[in-house]
Amino acid sequence: MSDFFNSRYAALEPYTPGEQPQGRSYIKLNTNESPYPPSEGVVAVLNRSEAEALRLYSDPTAAALKRALAACYEVGEENVFCGNGSDEALNFAFMAFGEDGIAFPDISYGFYPVFAALNQIRADVKPLKEDFTINTQDYLGIGKALVIANPNAPTGICKELSEIEKIAASNPGHVVIIDEAYIDFGGKTAIPLTKKYKNLLVIQTFSKSRSMAGARVGYAIGDKALISDLETIKYSTNPYNINRLSMAAACAAVSDQAYYDENCRRIIETREWTKDALLTLGFTCLPSKANFLFAAHKTAGGEFLYRRLKEEGILVRHFEKERIRDYNRITIGSREQMEELVGTLKQILGSLQEEV
Ligand SMILES: *Cc1c(COP(=O)(O)O)cnc(C)c1O
Repeated sequence: MSDFFNSRYAALEPYTPGEQPQGRSYIKLNTNESPYPPSEGVVAVLNRSEAEALRLYSDPTAAALKRALAACYEVGEENVFCGNGSDEALNFAFMAFGEDGIAFPDISYGFYPVFAALNQIRADVKPLKEDFTINTQDYLGIGKALVIANPNAPTGICKELSEIEKIAASNPGHVVIIDEAYIDFGGKTAIPLTKKYKNLLVIQTFSKSRSMAGARVGYAIGDKALISDLETIKYSTNPYNINRLSMAAACAAVSDQAYYDENCRRIIETREWTKDALLTLGFTCLPSKANFLFAAHKTAGGEFLYRRLKEEGILVRHFEKERIRDYNRITIGSREQMEELVGTLKQILGSLQEEV
């Protein structure tokens, strides 16, 4: 730390992103990226003329992308906010709506406590139940904002829409943020509920189901007054938050929805195949509606398996955190990648047997 760093940030513990190794090539199952490339429409739009247009600023109103998303989700363009990744939309929502504090689960997206600390918002951390589900009761009428990832990460467990609705209905004086980064892998979106609940803000991303983590595009959908508040923060931070190439790519992606729906179908199928294979190897897996599995082995430790898999060229995500250190979060890759994972685990666990 320099002598000049604002003391307000001195104790800030930044978010730790999953490893993005640059040297050796790994089977990357650690950051929930899609194993499938963006659609042909996306590839086609990233052409010479788009590159040449980079001399111009991008559209600060993100009009084309808002139009595309509004049509896709059957909401008004005034109900859509576009962010530089959903991380930006989440941070702006914390800034805009966190004045009375913000509640979230103890085991969830690692960025929530960071955004709270960054913006000096009181965090009210609610422990998950023993079975790793979110206790709806904890979030009813709490007198502050809240954020829930649905499906939750890293558990993959998804809440029924009726529970989300109860939470939104019981907190009319505060914003209820639902982070739906993984909703396309088997959950039901709360977007239609945003018409009924003016305090409900749904946040989604192009990073997972739409195969564009590197483009950094996310969005929030909600009542137009909420969107207008997010725009105020955006225009006070970075009006050109979506760059030209990512804007063009995102618009093209929304036009190719059928391609992404098919990818999601394949990922769900591969997830269920992988889950069965892991159960056979002695793992427990939480019931996932996401593009990852959260799995613990009955004898081999979480950190040990993470390390051994890495030595064998497979990256998964391990969290050194009290309640979950026995687990690893394993992204669902292609069927071939998951067969490789299962084969490698079989070897690792087999060699443990011999040692005993
Ligand atoms: C991946 C992820 C995000 C965000 O990602 P962006 O790449 O910033 O859009 C948000 N929330 C959760 C729970 C995630 O796992």
